[in-house]
Amino acid sequence: MVDHLLGIEGLSKNEIHRYLESAQSFVEVSERDIKKVPTLRGKTIVNIFFEPSTRTLASFDIAGKRLSADTINVSAGASSVKKGETLLDTVRTLESMNPDVLVIRHSESGAPHFVAQHLSRASVVNAGDGAHEHPTQALLDLLTLRQHFAESGRDIEGIKIGFVGDVRHSRVARSNIWGHLALGNRVRLIGPTTLVPRDLATVFRSDRVEVAHSLQEGLDGLDVVVCLRMQLERQDEHFIPNLDEYSKEYCVSERVLARCCPQSVVLHPGPMNRGTEVTGDVADGPRSLIRRQVNNGVAVRMAVLYLLARTAEPHEVFEP
Ligand code: ASP
Repeated sequence: MVDHLLGIEGLSKNEIHRYLESAQSFVEVSERDIKKVPTLRGKTIVNIFFEPSTRTLASFDIAGKRLSADTINVSAGASSVKKGETLLDTVRTLESMNPDVLVIRHSESGAPHFVAQHLSRASVVNAGDGAHEHPTQALLDLLTLRQHFAESGRDIEGIKIGFVGDVRHSRVARSNIWGHLALGNRVRLIGPTTLVPRDLATVFRSDRVEVAHSLQEGLDGLDVVVCLRMQLERQDEHFIPNLDEYSKEYCVSERVLARCCPQSVVLHPGPMNRGTEVTGDVADGPRSLIRRQVNNGVAVRMAVLYLLARTAEPHEVFEP
């Protein structure tokens, strides 16, 4: 049977740790002089992106190349692929190239699942579907936290994490929340009622998810704070008066962190709007793990591609 990575929802704690352990082992490959292993030699990976992307596309592309796979990047305008049939046609054309893995980003929730159902031979990786899931971002966030807590002898299991801002439209938050619940963590969703409605917590069917509408109350006692970008491209109505008003209430600053959760570390999935979601002193300060998140992106995508398409041992030295 062909394996896919369509979301974090439904993954067990062990499956998540398997991805993270594999990713950790690939961190070392990226530090070598020759950053390449022969693991996926002869395999073909198609990255098809119906939405713009810088970080995610680049890191999937580099990850495939470091594993010695052939990678092809296809950018497709979302407007030409509004109907399921058209998406299916596109995918069938790509399937005729016989890829081993198809990495897809699409503005419609569920598009990668639809593609996976209609492909017989290729593994599908969801690189972000609408406001639904972004599993590789969640895995790289989890890897970053696992490394951070391990350095001080702590475990990533049992922590308290808060997501601040546009949780309603954030696929990053959704995937992360499923991951943290699988690990047994407590989750707080923080933002105005329009972006964090009370019933959003019920989606996750867990009493370990709570909602806070005041930033100070929400941050109280957290180990980790994730600042989310305002997803204006997914907002079809006015959820906030304007960005200035929003940032007065919800921009995460060093002052509020020092008061409410002095030991916390901060993540941001990018792209980051300084002064709207997070202040520059936090983003560039000692509690920021943002640069580390970006560094972990390649290792996590190598692990995902490797676990889906492997035929050889992961860390052989590359002999051209
Ligand atoms: N890069 C992330 C995503 O594709 C986060 C964001 O765009 O805000 O969802």
